[in-house]
Amino acid sequence: MNDSPLRRLPSVRALLDRPELAGLFDRLGRDAVVRAVGLALDEARAAIRAGTPDADGEAGLAWRSRAIAESSARHLRPAINATGVLLNTGLGRAPLADLATEWVVEASRGYSNLEFDLNSGTRGRRTAGVEGLLRQITGAEAATVVNNNAAATVLALRALAAGREVVVSRGQLVEIGGSFRLPEIFEASGARLREVGTTNRTRLADYARAIGPETAAILRVHPSNYRVVGFTESVGIADLADLAHRRGLLAIDDIGSGMLRDGLPPGVVDEPTTAEGVAAGADVVLFSGDKLLGGPQSGLLVGRSDPIGRIEADPLMRALRVDKMTLAALEVTLRLALDEPRGLREIPLWRMLAAPIAGLDDRAARIAGRLAESGFAASAEATEARLGGGSAPAVPIPSRAVRVSPPYPGGLAGSSEGDLARRLRLGDPAIVPRVNAGAVVLDLKAVDPVEDDAIVAALARLAVAD
Ligand SMILES: *Cc1c(COP(=O)(O)O)cnc(C)c1O
Repeated sequence: MNDSPLRRLPSVRALLDRPELAGLFDRLGRDAVVRAVGLALDEARAAIRAGTPDADGEAGLAWRSRAIAESSARHLRPAINATGVLLNTGLGRAPLADLATEWVVEASRGYSNLEFDLNSGTRGRRTAGVEGLLRQITGAEAATVVNNNAAATVLALRALAAGREVVVSRGQLVEIGGSFRLPEIFEASGARLREVGTTNRTRLADYARAIGPETAAILRVHPSNYRVVGFTESVGIADLADLAHRRGLLAIDDIGSGMLRDGLPPGVVDEPTTAEGVAAGADVVLFSGDKLLGGPQSGLLVGRSDPIGRIEADPLMRALRVDKMTLAALEVTLRLALDEPRGLREIPLWRMLAAPIAGLDDRAARIAGRLAESGFAASAEATEARLGGGSAPAVPIPSRAVRVSPPYPGGLAGSSEGDLARRLRLGDPAIVPRVNAGAVVLDLKAVDPVEDDAIVAALARLAVAD
């Protein structure tokens, strides 16, 4: 029996003295850190017994201890998004405006008039505050809100077409974000999917031929995260709405992201606007609150009063309704969006998109210069950010990044770019970079300028550790 790898493991004491764990005692308490070190050592022993020892040594164990301590103290933590993907679903999509977070705190710390009419002193409507704002933005007669756009789609299909058919182009049977797959959404709703046309071409006549006594609606889905190019043909929502109405059916338009108008938010073109579907005659238009609007996760439904009323009366509405924190954040975001100059200053997504490249240039050069002082080979470079979140795939967004190339200094000597990225992710705050062509790349497009110092400080700390 050879137990030497087990005996070579460091002591709890030695791990507690490691620089990787510095600062954790104050924040999380000594007991929590000791417990985390014990768990990390248990894992390492189990790995050795299983014949899969970790090659990272003492530093690796210290990092693992840190990760366990951090996540047992608090799983959901703030992160700095240096991925260059602005609406990164993994990182929570749109950051909220400061004013929105203030309203969220106020609405949730105490009581609020969530479903209470302060004037009459009687029961009020939960969505009353945002309904008027959504009507103003989209020109629709009526509006309501649920938890996200996937919920909005299930609910609209169920309330308006359960047990009946809904006609959809084969070019629009999309999967968005891994778990939103249109055929599965149909199954969940109880409406039947009637596919027409082909992947690349669907004509109005295809829709017209598919309509029968079982048909309740025509659905258009914006293929948010891909484009069919080349020999293609699709039918616009105006023609679909016209056909639907001539045959006594409803037209539903799932536009996905919802840009407010061409160029709003800045740099976004070629996406359906929140108002055009309504203007073109769609009975219900669906979009997400945390994509181009830059608000909280939510699914917004706008359209004619009758179908919106049927949607609100559906029992599933009760299961999908939003809470007061979402409503508070959404109301602020909609108010800011209606006041365009203010929206551009205060909605973080809009502000990032509007930020001039010269400012990013300066920040990248400054960060690279400060990292060089800590011994890093760091350089500023031009790069392309993306919107992400299943929206506007075709739009590359000019950006600037800081590339941090090996060999890494001091305590990081011998580390790979993957190690460095992991250590940045496990820091406080978590910093999430890209790993690209053998280096760590920090894209600044989605990094708030006030976060630049935290990036420099985190790397400087890592360089001196050991
Ligand atoms: C993103 C998207 C959805 C899903 O929206 P969530 O708010 O993420 O649930 C549905 N349909 C389209 C067209 C989308 O782009």
